[in-house]
Amino acid sequence: MRSEASIDTLVLGSGPGALAIAAALGKEQLRVEVLAANDPKEPWPYTYGIWGEEVDELGLSDLLEHRWINTVSFFGAGSSEAKAAENIPTQHSKDYGLFDKKKLQEYWLNQCDEASIHWHKGIAKELEVDNLVSTVTTTSGQKLKARILIDATGYKPVFLKSQSQGAVAIQTCYGVVGNFNKPPVEEGQFVLMDYRCDHLSASERTEPPTFLYAMDMGNGRFFLEETSLGLSPPVSLETLQSRLKRRLEHRGLAITKLEHEELGLFLPMNMPVPDLEQPLLGFGGAAAMVHPASGYMVGGLLRRAPSLAKALAMAMQDKNASPATIACKGWDALWPEELRRKQALYQFGLEKLMRFKEPQLRDFFKGFFNLPSNQWYGFLTNTLNISELVNAMWNMFVSAPWNVKWGLMGMQGRELLLLWKFLKPQR
Ligand SMILES: Cc1cc2nc3c(=O)[nH]c(=O)nc-3n(C[C@H](O)[C@H](O)[C@H](O)COP(=O)(O)OP(=O)(O)OC[C@H]3O[C@@H](n4cnc5c(N)ncnc54)[C@H](O)[C@@H]3O)c2cc1C
Repeated sequence: MRSEASIDTLVLGSGPGALAIAAALGKEQLRVEVLAANDPKEPWPYTYGIWGEEVDELGLSDLLEHRWINTVSFFGAGSSEAKAAENIPTQHSKDYGLFDKKKLQEYWLNQCDEASIHWHKGIAKELEVDNLVSTVTTTSGQKLKARILIDATGYKPVFLKSQSQGAVAIQTCYGVVGNFNKPPVEEGQFVLMDYRCDHLSASERTEPPTFLYAMDMGNGRFFLEETSLGLSPPVSLETLQSRLKRRLEHRGLAITKLEHEELGLFLPMNMPVPDLEQPLLGFGGAAAMVHPASGYMVGGLLRRAPSLAKALAMAMQDKNASPATIACKGWDALWPEELRRKQALYQFGLEKLMRFKEPQLRDFFKGFFNLPSNQWYGFLTNTLNISELVNAMWNMFVSAPWNVKWGLMGMQGRELLLLWKFLKPQR
């Protein structure tokens, strides 16, 4: 029996997830096609940040548009600190970079071209999977057949299913790029988190906290983004806008030229790992690959695409393998038990932070970035193994002040379920 599909893999989407996996599959000499709603060369809407070390380890530092050595955060006067400590920055002593979006896109697109990957423009609407083949029908009635389908259509995947874990924590942000009457951050500086909140009233400080993510883009241009951690319900765009305005006014800052405004971007942080029994695969935001603590994913895409592609190439050597069999091998490569356990632990941690009030959050982060740098960096990039991750989290707990310890100890909501998933992972 031979598959009746003329191609091996159909990838859906043209975001970073789709391009990363299509390029990796092409390198494995698989016959790949991509169906996307947009032209794959269309510029992506977001800016993608990454730690310098991460991009160096991938050998891709030439894809960066900016790189900062002076990287800091401000956790200000937490509950245990004197007011004088408000403006003392926490030095991260690790470079941070921003991808040149165009270069990153071209990096993957060139690999797709080398592998002669064919592109279809259209919107996937229906999926039928039988023992031999997966058939996608588009809104215009076109039918595309492949041995396996990879859904990379982002955070609201068109076909991929996952079991609900309750409310999704959403990170929201409001950002501006432009010129200011005076520099909002030091020249050449990158600020990961500015939690100073002396511009807010006492009652506002009891509301969900937000922080400033900011960077000097060179030539007098700065990027400033008021951001919330993942929360449910999310912090509204209006709140973020008004908080950024107040923050700027308080420091005597004014925008003299607004170049670009990023309006209310929403990022789900704790999506459940997809159902691993389904006869199709996912990649990128669709497959819950965003890091639940940092909201980052591009480093993970670059690290995880080759192993998934290799597993699929191997599985498809069996010409009789059904989509369900191929998908099963793919899921094992993409979401092996160790990664699923780590994901549960990250989500468990996020649940705690979602309940923290502002002084607790500041103290938490101050302690977190006081961990040995390999621990906080490995935590944020998802590059620690499970025992290293547990060790980092334990160190964090032990060294935390009591207000943070109490917050970390209480068990609420779905935390027990997540702990159970960590201890006893199930497919
Ligand atoms: C505001 C924001 C900031 C972020 N910042 C960073 C960062 O600094 N660093 C980092 O590493 N990550 C970051 N991320 C996380 C992540 O890298 C991005 O969300 C990334 O864009 C996700 O890529 P994706 O390909 O999975 O999904 P998307 O980029 O959402 O792409 C989905 C694709 O699917 C297509 N599509 C949708 N439906 C269909 C359909 N029915 N048929 C065909 N095609 C379809 C869409 O047109 C699109 O091309 C950020 C995310 C957000 C939201």
